[in-house]
Amino acid sequence: MIFTPALLPRLIEAIATAIETNAEEVTALDQAIGDGDHVINLQRGIHALMAQRDELVGLDWPTAWQKIGMTLMSTIGGASGSLFGTLFVAMGKAAREQPLTQQGFAAIFSQAVAAVKQRGRSDIGEKTLLDVLGPVADALQSAATNATACAAMLENVADTAVAGVESTRDMLATKGRAAFLEERSRGHIDAGAKTTQLMISAVAGVLLTTPA
Ligand code: ADP
Ligand code: MG
Repeated sequence: MIFTPALLPRLIEAIATAIETNAEEVTALDQAIGDGDHVINLQRGIHALMAQRDELVGLDWPTAWQKIGMTLMSTIGGASGSLFGTLFVAMGKAAREQPLTQQGFAAIFSQAVAAVKQRGRSDIGEKTLLDVLGPVADALQSAATNATACAAMLENVADTAVAGVESTRDMLATKGRAAFLEERSRGHIDAGAKTTQLMISAVAGVLLTTPA
């Protein structure tokens, strides 16, 4: 893999900035169909990662992802804490079983998204963060199959994430707090889908400006 964990401080900082910049908008989304705490929950996790930046730099990817996952699980709380935590712990686990090539990373990410589905007892189409993670996993897989160049892949991933967020708007929520609203959940974007997109786009943005 051309990208090493030495990039993690920049990635974490970019994620922190993206969430901070969009905090009000996301809070309004979670207030509309959830309980309004999603950004605060997520920022607890991001701040914990900020404090671990220097430690993460010295690790290999599987260990770094595992550590990030454990930190997120123990700090975010809410429904999203165990899901974001599971994503990274599962990436760490899968990364021990395959090489970190473009194809390998696509497989690792897909396996991690499958672990999130299992953990949330949820799937794509239920108006959650999976409506961003699932399509992004598919985009990575098809880029790997077609040996798409890195920059084109990253741009496609960012666009796919944005489309995933928008796809949640008219969905009926069947998981999480929004599910209590039943039909009234329609017409609102899911907050977890939005923060997932912001984080993925922030990562893509950093990688696009990193010379390979
Ligand atoms: P809580 O709902 O406990 O207050 P957060 O506000 O931090 O937790 O996170 C809410 C987000 O978590 C939702 O917007 C949704 O994207 C995601 N979510 C909740 N439950 C599930 C689930 N079962 N599967 C997938 N994602 C879920
Ligand atoms: Mg909430």
